[in-house]
Amino acid sequence: MKVIEHIQQTNGTKVSFEILPPLKGKTINSIYEHLDPLMEFKPAFINVTYHRSETMFKKKSDGTFEKVEVRKRPGTVGICAAIMNHYQVDAVPHLICGGFGKRETEDALIDLHFLGIDNVLIIRGDAAKNEASFEPEPNGNRYAIDLLRQVVNLNHGIYQEEDIKNGGKTNFCIGVAGYPEKHFEAPNLQTDMMHLKAKVDAGADYITTQMFFDNQKYFDFVKSCRQNGIEVPIVPGLKPITNKKQLTILPKVFHVDIPADLSNAIMKCKNDEEVEKIGTEWLTEQSRELKKSGVKVLHYYTLGKPKVIWNIVKEVF
Ligand SMILES: Cc1cc2nc3c(=O)[nH]c(=O)nc-3n(C[C@H](O)[C@H](O)[C@H](O)COP(=O)(O)OP(=O)(O)OC[C@H]3O[C@@H](n4cnc5c(N)ncnc54)[C@H](O)[C@@H]3O)c2cc1C
Repeated sequence: MKVIEHIQQTNGTKVSFEILPPLKGKTINSIYEHLDPLMEFKPAFINVTYHRSETMFKKKSDGTFEKVEVRKRPGTVGICAAIMNHYQVDAVPHLICGGFGKRETEDALIDLHFLGIDNVLIIRGDAAKNEASFEPEPNGNRYAIDLLRQVVNLNHGIYQEEDIKNGGKTNFCIGVAGYPEKHFEAPNLQTDMMHLKAKVDAGADYITTQMFFDNQKYFDFVKSCRQNGIEVPIVPGLKPITNKKQLTILPKVFHVDIPADLSNAIMKCKNDEEVEKIGTEWLTEQSRELKKSGVKVLHYYTLGKPKVIWNIVKEVF
């Protein structure tokens, strides 16, 4: 089933989860161990993130360095197929612009289509670690909207190979990212909103948000989207704070604010166990309020913390 169908057919509120592929060298069992307990909550769908490769310099035995491209977390497509097969739950692979030419992207989309995976979350990806700002591949997509247009074209049977006439049509349901607190590169909220609207007008079926720790930011964002003519569902992305370091890391990496009440409470904690308790209580309250307000799907970033998410969902649902 498509994500948009899950959202439209929901009476009440459902949950969905997001996972990372395991580090290279681990087996698919690490995914099952992570997800098994969460299956109790019958998630509507499970997202699997995509990670671009990194350029690294490895020391050789003769003392010189060799430049190598390493993808630390491969396997997004395979994990999605495994999830659908193992749990009979819809999987949503993330697809990024970074590191991909349009032809490689097309081949990846064909793989997904042949595997019966009809959902994708389309994002640009961040700049490579050795780049000051995001640079697409020579024949790649620059913005998420360019990748989205490629997927929409394929849904109409339009391929990169121009000599393919009457090509088979894919049938992807397309999600895109939205930022209640603004994407960090956008000069202001209004410009970011304009780019988000362009993604929806180009064919995005729904939006999944960046994490936020103050529900008012989400409610204001939804209101602003509606005022700007964005009518598609907006799925809130939710993450618990589980250690003190996140007080500085999350604002730095994800450009999100942490409310003073939450940061003050965390600063008073003596260890990460106490932080996890505060973070769990905070996200439980956030979840309750969002559910009460009629949000159709709460999307949890489980990122290595399935037990914390389990505790929250158990409490709220
Ligand atoms: C729900 C979610 C899931 C994510 N999953 C992953 C993942 O799996 N892997 C990963 O690497 N990263 C992931 N990210 C991070 C994401 O890749 C970064 O936030 C990235 O910097 C922006 O991606 P985007 O799709 O929002 O980009 P875009 O929509 O392309 O926007 C990027 C910036 O460009 C601006 N912009 C857009 N269009 C134009 C235009 N035509 N002209 C000028 N400016 C424009 C926007 O305002 C914004 O500031 C995720 C983020 C979210 C919120």
